[in-house]
Amino acid sequence: MKQREKNKLFKESLEKYGNEMQYLLLMEECAELSKECSKYIRGLINDKSNPTAVAEEIADVENMIEQLKWMLGDVWKVFIDLKKDEKLERLKTRLKEK
Ligand SMILES: [Mg+2]
Repeated sequence: MKQREKNKLFKESLEKYGNEMQYLLLMEECAELSKECSKYIRGLINDKSNPTAVAEEIADVENMIEQLKWMLGDVWKVFIDLKKDEKLERLKTRLKEK
């Protein structure tokens, strides 16, 4: 889906359901992803080469993260990108230590 269409959906969802509901939905989708990851690790998913349920929940979480980033605006998107880079650099350093 094109960004313009996504932004229209984000706006409509925000207007219809409100600010707090978007945060709540992200929380719920994170919980669902967590549950599917747990089931995957515990071997409750028969075919580990086909983690469809995990992938579907990743899609839900990413959509909600996009919604919240859109709500927060461009300044916070820049902040988030900086923090992502910082945390990846920290990981790179840790991996070199071992
Ligand atoms: Mg879900």
